[in-house]
Amino acid sequence: MSTTTRIGQLEIACFSDGEARTSVDFAIGLSRAEAEGLVGPTQDGWIFIPVNNFLFRRDEALIMIDAGTGQGNQPTLGHLPENLRKGGVDPASVTHVLLTHLHSDHANGLIDAAGQAVYPNAQILLHEVEHAFWTNAAPSGESAKLTASRERNQRNLVPYADRIRIVADGETWRGCTPILSAGHTSGHTCWQIDTGGEMLIAWGDTVHFAAIQVPRPDIAVTYDMDGERARQARRALLERVSRSPIMVAGSHLPAPGIGRIIATSEGYRFRPAIN
Ligand SMILES: [Zn+2]
Repeated sequence: MSTTTRIGQLEIACFSDGEARTSVDFAIGLSRAEAEGLVGPTQDGWIFIPVNNFLFRRDEALIMIDAGTGQGNQPTLGHLPENLRKGGVDPASVTHVLLTHLHSDHANGLIDAAGQAVYPNAQILLHEVEHAFWTNAAPSGESAKLTASRERNQRNLVPYADRIRIVADGETWRGCTPILSAGHTSGHTCWQIDTGGEMLIAWGDTVHFAAIQVPRPDIAVTYDMDGERARQARRALLERVSRSPIMVAGSHLPAPGIGRIIATSEGYRFRPAIN
């Protein structure tokens, strides 16, 4: 499944990795009833959220934002490579992968079950803060879960070791600028993309539950490493894009994953782009 949105000079395709099963109970500071008031009825709190990846061509480069979940996660996930092929894109033709962060639904898809590169000709671009956090040795007292993520994230990068480009905050590459937006992870990154006429911000996991966190940006989720910083980053970004013509592309925003943020009397709402 893919949809394409034209923004400025670019055609940005949204390729789905599938849908992640998650629970509104992972929203912090919101009762089940309040959450269901926003998302609609759920099955005992469980809902599915989209997992989007974005692809565009700039000159001779074929640039993808994030790389999906790969194999071994939920059965509804891991479909990015087949969806790329269905859309006429050979994963081997991807030349660059810009990562928003290294969580499993964004970076585990870099490697296959054998640990080989799914994108054998791609260079990885990763913010220096996110890279340092996950590649440093585990500090003493770290949770087993975090250490396991650290080990997996390091494995994801192994086949790309000689083609990882570590980028500094604000360093523009081909019109794509990484902006640190820490909170969800230490080096969570928004990619600001100059499309040649308009600006697009690929905001990664700034929002997980669009129906909850766009109207109520104060609601953090248990996936955030630092909920308060994530909250501040979300508020600041929503405020910024709602006051400008900047479009947003979100890893977990509803189809087509791209649109505008509109300020409302109480919060914000997402207006999907029309293709
Ligand atoms: Zn995510």
